[in-house]
Amino acid sequence: MSVTVFAFRSTQEHGEQMTSSVWVILGPGEMPPAPGGLPLLAEARRLVEPAGGVTVVLTGPAAAVEELAAQGATRILVLDAADGGVDPIAAAEVLTERLRDERPETCLLSASRWGSEVAGRLAARLGAALLPGCVGLTRDGAGRLEGVRPVYGSRLVARVAATGGSLPIVTLRPGSESAGGVSGRQPATLERIPCPARPDWIRVLGEEQVPPEALDLGEADVVVAGGLGVGSRQGFALVEELAGLLGGAMGATRMAVDAGWAPFSRQIGLTGRIISPRVYVACGISGSPHHMDGVRQAELVVAINTDRHAPIFTYADVGILGDVREVLPALIATLRRLRPEARDAAALLGGGTGRPGPLDARS
Ligand SMILES: Cc1cc2nc3c(=O)[nH]c(=O)nc-3n(C[C@H](O)[C@H](O)[C@H](O)COP(=O)(O)OP(=O)(O)OC[C@H]3O[C@@H](n4cnc5c(N)ncnc54)[C@H](O)[C@@H]3O)c2cc1C
Repeated sequence: MSVTVFAFRSTQEHGEQMTSSVWVILGPGEMPPAPGGLPLLAEARRLVEPAGGVTVVLTGPAAAVEELAAQGATRILVLDAADGGVDPIAAAEVLTERLRDERPETCLLSASRWGSEVAGRLAARLGAALLPGCVGLTRDGAGRLEGVRPVYGSRLVARVAATGGSLPIVTLRPGSESAGGVSGRQPATLERIPCPARPDWIRVLGEEQVPPEALDLGEADVVVAGGLGVGSRQGFALVEELAGLLGGAMGATRMAVDAGWAPFSRQIGLTGRIISPRVYVACGISGSPHHMDGVRQAELVVAINTDRHAPIFTYADVGILGDVREVLPALIATLRRLRPEARDAAALLGGGTGRPGPLDARS
């Protein structure tokens, strides 16, 4: 595989030495469910070892402070919104001044929808370099940070660096960070920063759910996609129904599009859309490289397939060995029984990061 090198120049001037510290900014729901640790924090710890500090910014409850300190956080900043979730615009507005004052060496976020929006806004407000969608971070011979990112449908890998000594804001694709395992040596300090759920110049006039066939694939947190194994246009109605119940978007493979079961705008893959949902549910999809090229950034992959040896199971975090014509109606019936507020797809479908073998739907 070839390697190209780009340098992103930022407009930020730095007369002074930056402190040896790294910030990790976590969006709502980006705390790890498992004891395996927080990958972004492990990555930050690795970058600042041995002496630097790691500041973790939380947008959720501060319940995990001790756990974060044990994983190497030296300071925790909690964006305290009175009514829960923090809008990315509000988070960027509140954090800009702190970052301008403190000038950490870098700032890491997940390449999730929330993280990407905050990163872009921070970079623009600070005049900083943005290294988006990286799959790794290294240092060059001079100790300068370099991001590694796939380009041109993952055919090339680019090494990218911020020039001029500027603060790079980096988003890392889920699953590409260091393994955990770093432990903290000191208690972390905790500070709460008042933060509006959204800036006062934004007023929400109403909310409505976009139907799964209209929800933009690139924007969706949950994508339920169907392949040739779905079998018919009627079968696709089940794919669409599950997507709707999970508040997600409906997607398709090229074979399903060619069969006329879904429009081309729903095609995912090399010649379709590249998506980065929190949860991707593949129904009757074999997992060809052309299709999976569009799914690499999904955080959690659930696969339903009748073939134990289907390649999709090598990508899946949750594998269901079964017929979509039985599994989909059962999932839909279960979701319909649950209260609407319990329909968090990541929680329902496991949220794990290991890749176990497929579960037999009959068992
Ligand atoms: C240049 C080029 C570009 C391409 N671009 C794309 C692209 O952008 N996107 C894309 O998707 N493809 C693309 N393709 C096509 C790609 O190579 C695959 O052919 C396609 O992704 C396979 O689609 P599929 O998984 O739906 O079908 P199949 O490979 O036929 O897989 C169907 C799967 O369904 C399972 N199954 C069958 N019945 C059931 C059932 N009742 N319940 C559960 N499982 C069942 C089978 O075990 C099988 O694994 C491209 C190909 C080329 C040559």
